[in-house]
Amino acid sequence: MQRTPVLIVGGGPVGLALAGELGWRGIACMLIEQGDGTITTPKMNEVNIRSMELCRRWGIADAVHGCPFPGDYPLDVAFVTRLAGYELGRIPRAPRMHQQPDSHSPMRLQVCSQIWFDPILQSFARSFAHVELRYRTRLESFTLSEHAVIAETVDLATGARERIEAGYLVGCDGASSMVRGALGIGLDGRTLGHPVHLYFRAPGLLQACGRTPATFFVTVDRGGVWSNVRIIDPANAMWRLMVLDAGGAMSPASVDRERHLRRALGRSFEVEWLGTSVWTRRSVVAQRYAQGRVFLAGDAAHQLSPTGALGMNTGIADAADLGWKLAAVLAGWGGEHLLSSYDAERRPIGIRNVGMSAEFYLEHGKLNDELATIEDDSGAGVQARARLGEALVRGVGRMFRTTGLQIGYRYEDSPICVDDGTPTTTDDPDVFVPSARPGSRAPHAWIGEGRSMLDLYGAGFVLLRLGAGAPNASALEAAAVARKVPLTTVALTDPEVEELYERRLVMVRPDGHVAWRDDAPPPDPLAVIDRVRGAASSNQPTV
Ligand SMILES: Cc1cc2nc3c(=O)[nH]c(=O)nc-3n(C[C@H](O)[C@H](O)[C@H](O)COP(=O)(O)OP(=O)(O)OC[C@H]3O[C@@H](n4cnc5c(N)ncnc54)[C@H](O)[C@@H]3O)c2cc1C
Repeated sequence: MQRTPVLIVGGGPVGLALAGELGWRGIACMLIEQGDGTITTPKMNEVNIRSMELCRRWGIADAVHGCPFPGDYPLDVAFVTRLAGYELGRIPRAPRMHQQPDSHSPMRLQVCSQIWFDPILQSFARSFAHVELRYRTRLESFTLSEHAVIAETVDLATGARERIEAGYLVGCDGASSMVRGALGIGLDGRTLGHPVHLYFRAPGLLQACGRTPATFFVTVDRGGVWSNVRIIDPANAMWRLMVLDAGGAMSPASVDRERHLRRALGRSFEVEWLGTSVWTRRSVVAQRYAQGRVFLAGDAAHQLSPTGALGMNTGIADAADLGWKLAAVLAGWGGEHLLSSYDAERRPIGIRNVGMSAEFYLEHGKLNDELATIEDDSGAGVQARARLGEALVRGVGRMFRTTGLQIGYRYEDSPICVDDGTPTTTDDPDVFVPSARPGSRAPHAWIGEGRSMLDLYGAGFVLLRLGAGAPNASALEAAAVARKVPLTTVALTDPEVEELYERRLVMVRPDGHVAWRDDAPPPDPLAVIDRVRGAASSNQPTV
């Protein structure tokens, strides 16, 4: 029987990110994926700010920046009646080569389709000799004991069956997760519809339609907002038309793609069809993210409407949260409650992101009385289009203004963070308010040429001593040594950092979230270290 500390089931972006994260932390793991790694119908296109910050930590941000999506291609979002019809409004977004980081992060959201992003994650994971990726291998069943998980797999090329003993198993096996099903974990939430994806190649499409380039076109006609058209790979003229409602066509063969295409373009145009899929838009969260030694991450744990581009990005953040905790427990310094904090921290974020994504989707149905004259060549038509354009940018456009959602999530009531009694900051999808309150993502500030505060975090805990008069932290350092917790002390006297972090001593976890802060050393340093390493039970009094 093969043995591995961690068995990851599913080689989509989330499973690959977890394999890479564990590999980066020096933890051996095995990933099994039933497919061969080929992506024919890519879903994900936007790697958000937080995922890019993690890519920066992992050393793969340049590869994402350098993906084949052209650096000078406008990333604008345009609202149109049809591609060859009227333009109602536009949200300008700078091409990748002109993007500047804003003050909150060293990174920007990147347009990088899954056709490029998954292979980048794959080669990152493969770069570690202690990470094994096995394709064409399916998990058939597993049994769970107090000490291990025994998985039964089948090699789909040869039919050979194998038993693998794993310390932990992580189901990154997507929306119809077999792992979740086997554990009997239900999903809370609802179905929002049955959209259709039509993939096609269409060189010269925008020129033929007389349309100024953009990356994402939302189409709205007398029937309301009914589809969007996205360029996935400009160099190869690969596009995707998403029809929001399949209208009862529940199989690819029953989809009238020529009719949908003609409606979206407003003219005929010959395209090369590449693929069709009908899928279910769900807004659901698993009732539990873990059971014993088994965890769920990514779409296995939550399914979001793609409005807001949060699906994979939420899953990558799951992987970052679970990764350091598994590594800590396997290294021996993680406490007995550390792994149960994964559900406590990440499930509320799943609920938050699922809820916001559904809200963005429901914006699509909020237009009604302006639509009758929308395509009229008349004064009334001009006025209706102007009003509608403004309403669309404000309403449907919300899903493109999400800095707060992307980096403002925080682990409220986390059992492994020490509440400092300060009030919570606003959690607005659009407005990001940096905060070093325990549970929050430790804020970014530049601390040298091209060097961000975020570059300090990752490997272990970091204890920041801020300001010229920062108190001595030797008791906390000694407590960390006593518990074998990796902790590095960093002293900084940058006024901007002091203002952002608000306290003279701030302890940041390996995932870059704040664990504890104060202006003075804690009276019981061991109690703080035990809390943040998950060795204190959550019903023990706060330290
Ligand atoms: C139209 C659309 C656009 C989207 N755009 C974005 C976006 O811009 N940004 C974003 O963040 N998200 C986006 N998403 C969501 C994103 O695509 C998903 O959240 C993401 O792919 C989930 O990744 P995952 O690794 O959890 O699951 P999946 O990508 O579904 O991967 C699961 C893998 O598990 C494998 N598997 C399943 N069962 C087994 C088994 N028994 N044994 C072995 N292997 C198994 C499957 O073969 C599969 O490869 C979009 C989704 C859609 C539909």
